[in-house]
Amino acid sequence: MLNANYALVLNCGSSSLKFAIIDPQTGNEILSGLAECLLTDEARFIYRQQGDKHQCSLSQVTDHQVADHQKAIDKLVAIIEKQQLGSSIKAVGHRVVHGGEAFVDSVLVDEAVKLKIEALNPLAPLHNPANLVGINAAQAAFPHLPQVAVFDTAFHQTMPKQAFTYALPRNFYTDHGVRKYGFHGTSHQYVAQQAANLLQQPANKLCLVTAHLGNGCSLASVKEGKSVDTSMGLTPLAGLVMGTRCGDIDPGILHFMTDNLGLTSQQVNELLNKKSGLLGLSQHSNDCRALLHAEQQGDELAKLALDVFCYQLAKSIAAHAVPLGRLDALVFTGGIGENAAPIRARVLDQLCLLGFVLDETANQDTVAGQAGQITLAQSTTALVIPTNEERVIAGDALRVSQVNAHQNNVRQNSVSQIN
Ligand code: ADP
Repeated sequence: MLNANYALVLNCGSSSLKFAIIDPQTGNEILSGLAECLLTDEARFIYRQQGDKHQCSLSQVTDHQVADHQKAIDKLVAIIEKQQLGSSIKAVGHRVVHGGEAFVDSVLVDEAVKLKIEALNPLAPLHNPANLVGINAAQAAFPHLPQVAVFDTAFHQTMPKQAFTYALPRNFYTDHGVRKYGFHGTSHQYVAQQAANLLQQPANKLCLVTAHLGNGCSLASVKEGKSVDTSMGLTPLAGLVMGTRCGDIDPGILHFMTDNLGLTSQQVNELLNKKSGLLGLSQHSNDCRALLHAEQQGDELAKLALDVFCYQLAKSIAAHAVPLGRLDALVFTGGIGENAAPIRARVLDQLCLLGFVLDETANQDTVAGQAGQITLAQSTTALVIPTNEERVIAGDALRVSQVNAHQNNVRQNSVSQIN
């Protein structure tokens, strides 16, 4: 462990802090956990330490003393010291939701970077301020470690203008940055690379549609390793039907809700983000597993919710093949993509136009946590690939900090030569 190169990954929400110490080489999680219900009386801190990737938790601690993000990080520091992990952690990687157009890759955090992240708060008012709280707390707790920001949006910055531009008056983009940014970038990037490994082809030769289907759902068109389109937009509300989010709807509905039904803009926002999608349609649950079960019991609304979800998904997958020119493979990932065989089957059944023929046995037999192909030999390829966003963040944290350390060395050498 003395020579280990781990990264600490932090994902800071408004009332939570998820963390993991990861070996990016192997993907092993050395320690992981979360502090939740921060800033309330219910604040708690839970962590799990694992010997290797397949082992279950060895210890679980609940401590009701934790109150805010700084205290959560202080608690984490104490655990790291107790477990003697400090010398193995070489960098801290922060998940930052919105990088706007300012960040096309992960970046070493300095004051200028923090100001740019703060300037993007209007585009992600719930996320970016919380991400900055995490960065500040980690800087105070680990002043000797490089801090690296990894953005959900960065992977999609390669989209061409015609893909990211909305047909709105031009000044909405030029003055306010209103355009498509896309999210889940680390997941799309990771599974695209894993698909290339599985297919034994270079990523920069492949044309893929990647489908991240969790509570939030998005598609990406990944052409030769680069994102050229994606289904989420200015915000993560756009695109596919999700657990509680509506995805694409007629924008005129917003006007109808405010002017005909008297809803405030805040109520509309709440309704579209938290009460729509699978939950709103089914009036039962946002959880795909629960809806599959309810549908089997004859629940008509659960069936409708899943039918709408699968139909919109299939239609959007076909649309995302357009910018690729050809489709080498479709990749399913996220909680639904990795685990819900009946959903994958329903989607592929509607995509015979693209040449998909399901291998029913392979689809049923795909084991959670493992990658595999679920189509027959004569079919366009569809794969299931488990995502690992934390591993991407850990890998980027080490990569960016090492590049920076190398550049500093080169700079110092050339200064000392001049002197
Ligand atoms: P998040 O976006 O919060 O990370 P996940 O990627 O964990 O979410 O995905 C959560 C979704 O995955 C839920 O809708 C859940 O029902 C679904 N899911 C998980 N396991 C299964 C399963 N075995 N069958 C069907 N759906 C599943």
